Amino acid sequence: MKTVERPSPNFNDRQGGAPVDILVLHYTGMPNAEAALELLTTVEGKVSSHYMVGEGGAVYSLVAENMRAWHAGVSSWGGATDINSRSIGIEIVNPGHEFGYRPFTPVQIEAVIALCKGILQRWPITPARVLAHSDVAPGRKIDPGELFPWDELARHGIGRWPRLHTADTGLLAIAPGDRGEHVARLQGELVRYGYGLEATGVFDERSQAVVSAFQRHFRRSRFDGVADADTQFILADLLNQLDAVA
Ligand SMILES: [Zn+2]
Repeated sequence: MKTVERPSPNFNDRQGGAPVDILVLHYTGMPNAEAALELLTTVEGKVSSHYMVGEGGAVYSLVAENMRAWHAGVSSWGGATDINSRSIGIEIVNPGHEFGYRPFTPVQIEAVIALCKGILQRWPITPARVLAHSDVAPGRKIDPGELFPWDELARHGIGRWPRLHTADTGLLAIAPGDRGEHVARLQGELVRYGYGLEATGVFDERSQAVVSAFQRHFRRSRFDGVADADTQFILADLLNQLDAVA
């Protein structure tokens, strides 16, 4: 695919020798594309990503894929914390919740899909490790947010999507303030999927942030952090899919 070179000085060597096995998708959260490109490519910005995808479908290449771009910040997945060292990051232009969150454009999503396909061919990234910034930094980040069409990407073989949704499972909602075995079990399942959380048995603020991040990705109609029946069902389904490929 055709990319526009806009080299960023904000990168270093990947650390720790881990494979590149995570793909993190972001939105830029800036008033416009130029402002985002400026931030991502100037020393003062201290941030970068490997690519940026404009609303018109232009793909900018900022950091070489084999280098460590600075996009994830304080983050964790599957027990690993230096996500920048083992991931590729794509910034997708959208003003975000701060400057007027709006739908991603069809041509932009087409470009994201083509870009992701290439990356997934070049690196050993499994579908379950195609993640939102909010997945690796719950409570701190909410991008790319609930308007991002994860289901459409999954139809192209990019990332995981639940096979079934049902509202009639008989499962009771688990909500902030709850405590007990059922809370510990839910937390344990979220940890097993990859989220940075402790199975304390107390549905605290962190637990709510993680459930909300999970919902923004996999059940976008409501993302209040209450683990309702639908959310629990989807989590179980995704864990089954994980086990099936393990
Ligand atoms: Zn981000």
